[in-house]
Amino acid sequence: MITAGIDVGSVSTKVVLLIDAEIKYLVRPTGWSPRDAGLNTYQELLNTVGCKTGDVRSIVGTGYGRISLGIIDKAVTEIHCHARGANYLVGQGGLLIDIGGQDSKAILMNEQGKVIDFAMNDKCAAGTGRFLQVIAAALGVDVSELGELAEGRSPLDINSMCTVFAESEVISLLAKGADKRDIIAGIHRSVARRVWGMASRFGPSQRVIFTGGVAQNHDVRNRLSQEAGCPVIVPEISQLAGALGAALYARELNK
Ligand code: ADP
Repeated sequence: MITAGIDVGSVSTKVVLLIDAEIKYLVRPTGWSPRDAGLNTYQELLNTVGCKTGDVRSIVGTGYGRISLGIIDKAVTEIHCHARGANYLVGQGGLLIDIGGQDSKAILMNEQGKVIDFAMNDKCAAGTGRFLQVIAAALGVDVSELGELAEGRSPLDINSMCTVFAESEVISLLAKGADKRDIIAGIHRSVARRVWGMASRFGPSQRVIFTGGVAQNHDVRNRLSQEAGCPVIVPEISQLAGALGAALYARELNK
């Protein structure tokens, strides 16, 4: 059986094709049109894998652009898709932290991966992937380089909670001669503190799972682990958790 999950995020669009137990996927920038990004990424993955639209039994959409897609059989919230996908990848439930392009989420799951409770910050860019993109641009580096640059560095204090003010703070730190790598470490620590401040309302956790595009940044992962006081599990395809969850929900549709 082949099913598809399409996660149209604010920054990137992720598509998973679940071909029995095999996971095929593609990530592309969302750009200005969520609809085009979803449809084009889906078609590109079908072409790459050598499938036709008629081979796909059902499609579930998630992410902020899911409603615009038109081709999906059902829309499922990001909370449920992320939990479902993450639990499929690492099992046993736990506290899931997802940091994407424009929001961060903390999702408490039981051992079967069912959502018990969740909290979400989608009101402000601070502490999200977009925040890291703004800071990376101010420092003249790519967002994918941040993790390596900050690893093992001493974090500088970043006091501003707002993306715009934090960017100004970074620029004045640079002007004072601060090392770029220590600034990035400080930014990562503030991201980790902010998300853990939201997640810790669910109490101490022995099992923290980290997904979303930002989970690819291993320095954020390490600093989150320091805040949480326990190891943080990052699935290999952490950015794909939502799309994978959607493809798993698609398996359950009666068509
Ligand atoms: P959304 O679903 O909202 O589009 P994602 O979960 O795809 O968000 O995450 C996007 C964010 O992931 C980007 O804003 C960026 O900060 C971060 N990111 C993307 N690629 C990388 C990478 N290679 N290394 C580190 N961080 C990355």
